Parts: sequence; C-alpha cells; structure tokens
Amino acid sequence: MIRDRVFKIREQIASVCSRILRNPSGINIVAVSKGRSLSQIEQAIDSGICYIGENRVQEALLKYSALQSKQLALSIKWQMVGHLQSNKVKDAVKMFSCIQSVDGLGLAVEIDRQAQRAGKVQDIMLEIKTSEEPAKFGLKPQELQEAILKMVSLKNLKILGLMTIAPLTHDPENTRPYFRRLRELRDELNQSSIIGYKVSELSMGMSDDFTVAIEEGSTMVRLGRAIFE
Ligand SMILES: *Cc1c(COP(=O)(O)O)cnc(C)c1O
Repeated sequence: MIRDRVFKIREQIASVCSRILRNPSGINIVAVSKGRSLSQIEQAIDSGICYIGENRVQEALLKYSALQSKQLALSIKWQMVGHLQSNKVKDAVKMFSCIQSVDGLGLAVEIDRQAQRAGKVQDIMLEIKTSEEPAKFGLKPQELQEAILKMVSLKNLKILGLMTIAPLTHDPENTRPYFRRLRELRDELNQSSIIGYKVSELSMGMSDDFTVAIEEGSTMVRLGRAIFE
C-alpha cells in the first residue's frame, strides 16, 4: 500500500532527523511518478504528498490535466526533474511550480522568455553534475558561478536552490561525498551573494540513499520506488 510506504518513509525521516537534530518539517518529499498511473498518484496525494515529480513534459501534462479537474489535486506543486528540451519549455512553464533540472544558460534563457510571456516568475533549481559519470546532465561545479552571473539578469526566474543525482552504487554510503559537495556549493553561493538573495533548497536523495542525503542537508528527497513499489 502506498499509504503504508509513505508512513514508513516519514518515520525514517523523523528517525534520521532526531539523530542529527534536524527539524523534519525542513524536508519535503517529492513523489516521482514517471510511469505510474493516475490512481497511484491520487493515492500518494491522499497520503499527504504535496510535491509530484515528473521527468517528461508530455506525460506530465496528461496527468496534470486529468488531475486539475479534481479538488484533491489543486494544491499539488508539480516538479520537473528530468532533462528539459527547449521546445518543451512553453508547456513546462504552464504546469510546473518548479523546474529542478535547469542544466544550462540556454535553457534558463528560454524558460525566462516563456515565463515572461505567461506572466509568471518561474521557480527553478540548477542541476549540478557532482560526479564524473559521463551520461549525466547538469552544470559542472566550476561552471556554476559564471552561469549564475548571467542568470541573475533574467527577471522571470527565481532560483530556489540546487539539485543533483548521485551516481548509482551498491552502497548508499558512497553517495555521501556528492551530497556534501552540493551543500558546499549552495553555501558558497550564499556566501558570495552573487544571486542577491539566499537560496535554501537542496534537492537530493532518492529511494536508496535519501537518509544519507538528509544527513548531508537535503531539503527535498525525490522518491519513486520507495513510494510506488
Ligand atoms: C526516477 C527519478 C527519481 C526517483 O528514483 P527512485 O530511485 O525510484 O526513488 C528521482 N529523481 C529523478 C531525477 C528521477 O528521474
């Protein structure tokens, strides 16, 4: 049952938090529902989930439209967590509260343009490639400062924080250095104050490694299998 699994995840989060003296209310759960049915998403919402993550715009739009008609789904904050192509930005801006997977200046410029046309300030996060694994999207840590210096002039974007995907590993403990790196990058940004406001979000941690991510400061864990399987 989805409800039981969400309950168990909340217990796990509470237990890590009490060990490291963090307030569990500072950690939001994103239910990543790619490939899951509407009924599964509704069960997650019924279990108190407010953030739904999707990685493909087309699939997300279908689910969004279907759920929009139901009272239940009105408070959902949709999160784009997959690679976003420029030609899908217009649709993405229509439905997503936050686009977490902004991985380059060109994409940021296009999101800003479409947000302006839609009369919206679009919340985004910057996806960072914290590991050397080749096939991943994301800005390299050393590219971050320069990208942000250019993004701050884009007035229809609000940067909420940073997102990363840790490499696959058999032992969750191996992911710790990547999560720590993301936290350091956020803290460096806030110290340099190049954005002009503080960014707080760290979207990191998935089903296998979310407790490690929380220990390293995650504010948002993105869970698929832990909730739906
Ligand atoms: C699928 C996905 C998740 C969830 O993965 P699980 O391992 O099933 O928890 C999280 N983040 C992103 C970007 C994803 O694509």
